[in-house]
Amino acid sequence: MKRIFIGLGSNQGDSRALLRQALADLEARVDGHLEAVSSLYRTAPVGYTAQPDFLNAVAQFRGTGEPEEWLDHCLAVEAGLGRHRDGPRWGPRPVDLDLLAVEGQSLATPRLTLPHPRLYERGFVLIPWAEVSPDFRLPYGSRIDDLLNQCPDSGRVEPTEGPEWAEGLGHAGEGSE
Ligand code: ADP
Ligand code: MG
Repeated sequence: MKRIFIGLGSNQGDSRALLRQALADLEARVDGHLEAVSSLYRTAPVGYTAQPDFLNAVAQFRGTGEPEEWLDHCLAVEAGLGRHRDGPRWGPRPVDLDLLAVEGQSLATPRLTLPHPRLYERGFVLIPWAEVSPDFRLPYGSRIDDLLNQCPDSGRVEPTEGPEWAEGLGHAGEGSE
């Protein structure tokens, strides 16, 4: 079984409840289980900035299956929670689920790039990820906490609630593993 990391974001609706539901829906679909979840962070939007702040977190699953299947599950859960892909790219969304990394795999196809190509420049990904698993190494060897230390992003990323926001889901919210 390998580790799979998913970045979660929301800036529409009841974001905390939507992110909890997204984790529950993922757990119900994937060949694997939720192992750890970061704190919840309030972050400034990037790209298209005239929109509300986001809530972001990173979840660690352990499981099997092809990366494309994990992407399909992410996209299906987003759609089930009301995401429509007709707004501006990087615009507001009820739930965004990004496949950040699948242990030991790198990939570049038209619909899936692994590790996620923009993780290196995003504090709102690296800060929660380093909380969950600072020692994890990407396929080419970089550790998450090293990437965070090198990250140029100065966007606002403020913790708003510890991992207990995900209490009752998988083994999350019971302290980091
Ligand atoms: P973003 O998350 O960058 O705001 P979207 O959520 O709209 O963008 O994703 C657009 C597309 O990116 C998805 O339909 C998917 O096919 C593609 N994609 C490529 N690599 C990944 C990845 N690692 N995780 C999630 N989506 C990815
Ligand atoms: Mg996405």
